[in-house]
Order: sequence, then structure tokens, then C-alpha cells
Amino acid sequence: MISELMEKPLASWRGQERNGNELLECLTVIFKSGGCTWSKCRMCSYRHERYSGYQSPETIAGHLRAQLSWITNQYKSDEYRMVKIFTSGSFFDPKEVPTEFLSDIAARFRGKLIIAETRPEFVDLETLLPFIDILDDGSYKKPLYCAIGLETSSDSIRNKSINKGFSFQDFKKASATAHSAGAGVKAYLLFKPLFLTEEEAVYDMKKSIRDSTVHADMISMNPCTVQRNTEMEYYWKRGAYRPPYLWSILSILLDAPLHITCDPLGGGQNRGPHNCGKCDYEIVNGIRDYSLNADRDLISALLETRCDCKQEWEYILESEKPYCMPLTT
Ligand code: SF4
Ligand SMILES: [Zn+2]
Repeated sequence: MISELMEKPLASWRGQERNGNELLECLTVIFKSGGCTWSKCRMCSYRHERYSGYQSPETIAGHLRAQLSWITNQYKSDEYRMVKIFTSGSFFDPKEVPTEFLSDIAARFRGKLIIAETRPEFVDLETLLPFIDILDDGSYKKPLYCAIGLETSSDSIRNKSINKGFSFQDFKKASATAHSAGAGVKAYLLFKPLFLTEEEAVYDMKKSIRDSTVHADMISMNPCTVQRNTEMEYYWKRGAYRPPYLWSILSILLDAPLHITCDPLGGGQNRGPHNCGKCDYEIVNGIRDYSLNADRDLISALLETRCDCKQEWEYILESEKPYCMPLTT
């Protein structure tokens, strides 16, 4: 449900999420906030979702509290155990989400497992320890997971293709800090950002998954979707970008040394990860099922699906040539 009124979050919905061997009822909330202070990633339109003009921290906190009240009224607390929190940027960025509001969230969701998205530079002990102190009632070994959009373990791809503005080293440091605070780490990886061939993108994901397992407790792969008003959309409209094939997603999931989740947003559509249109529906549903049931045989079976576009995908992997980008300015 997408909201129009300022007092509601941008979106919220109920669903299920896998946590270890358990399936948990989950509430996902996207709060409208002061907006991402980085705001430069080439594929991101979320950063446009913010309160416009100057807003004092008190005003932003007021808006956020109103949104939290709306959530409290809308969803019964005993119907979910996990809460996934997104903003238009970073939940732990004090300029975007005033620190005073963090205590409100921790108190409101005390006893739940919270997964909150943030850039790595905002993961610090001064923020996490008091938050966990209020949140933790002993229900979970790690009541908080910091979800960080690492995107790839390659600094050059993160820099050139995404413009993310932090390094793998920054992620590793944030991960160590989160762990020392008693929190877990969830890494979001971005499959097929700009300027990569399909084969380069698949290779990058397979490597990134292996590199991240050392530092992250959970990994989620987001295949690129072309969002509006982004640089990615500019290239896509000119035929210079194609979202990834669903076949590629299956091959990555099968190759991964551990279960990783994947929600192919916009799957089967031109702007989202897609194959030929005929085989997409079944494969997208299968990928979603796999995220919940971790049944690797399902992925193997889907990879054996017969469709003419599989040959096309194999040809693309073999034949697509990269455009060169200068290494220096
Ligand atoms: S991807 Fe995240 S860090 Fe990058 S601009 Fe969007 S909200 Fe900001
Ligand atoms: Zn097909």
C-alpha cells in the first residue's frame, strides 16, 4: 500500500522472511525521512523520496513519529516478529533520521528482530549500543541486523558503475563494529549495475557472494530494475543497458555456497530482470519461493526449464563485449 498523506510511511506491508531455519512473520516499513545525504547512486530513485526544503530535526522527528503511530494503529504487534526498516537512505544517519526517533523505534518494536538499512559510515557503537539496549528483551541472540547496500565486493565496479562512495574496507569495518555491538549484518548485493556485460555481472556476483560471506550473516541479491529519473534509466532508454536475465539469477543462486535471498522486483517486465516473456512468470515465482524455502533442487529444476531464450542467454554470455571505461580521469 503506497501512501499519499505525509503522516503515513511511504509504504508498508506484511509478509514472511526466512531467519536461519525459521520462517518469521515480517512487517516491512519504508519511512519517509529527511532523505539520503549521499544521494548520488546511478540506479537509485529512492533518494527522491524525502521531505522537500529545509526541515529542522524536530520537524522530521515529528513526521517520523506520526508515521510510527500510523503503523501502530494499522498492524497488530503480536502478528509479526521481524521488522524490516527502510528509509529514503540510511536509518542510522542522524541528519536523515534524528537520533531521538531511534529510541522510539527501539521501544515500539522491543522484542522483535529488526533489520534496518544503513550506509556503513553510520554504523557506530554510540548509535547501536543504546538502540539495542532498548530493543533487546532476550528473544533473539542478535536483535538487530544492519543491512548495508554493499552492492559488490569490487571497489572499481562500486565506484564506476554505481557511484556508491564507499569501499569494501568501509563495509568490513562497519561489519566488525556491528558485530562488536552484538548486531548482525545483512549485505545487499546489486546484480548487473551499469556498464557491465551479462557475463561480467554474473562473475562479479559470484565473487561478491563469496567475498561477503566472511563479513555478513545474511546476503540478499537485488537484480537491477530500471527506476524512473535515474542515470540507469537514461542509458536504458538509449539501448545501452539491459536488466539481467532470469537465467543468470538462477545460475548465481545455484553457485552460491550458502542460501541467499532474492526478490526479483519488476521480474518479467522490460524494466526488471527478464527473459523472453514466455518463461518469466514461472521462474520469477520459483526464485521467490527459493528465498523462503531454500530448496536448491527447485533452482536446479528451473535451470532445466526448456525455452528458446536459454540459447539466447548462453550466446549473450559468450559473445557480449564490454565497452571500455578509462581507469584514470
Ligand atoms: S542507493 Fe542508498 S546510498 Fe545510494 S543514493 Fe540511493 S538511498 Fe542513497
Ligand atoms: Zn524464455
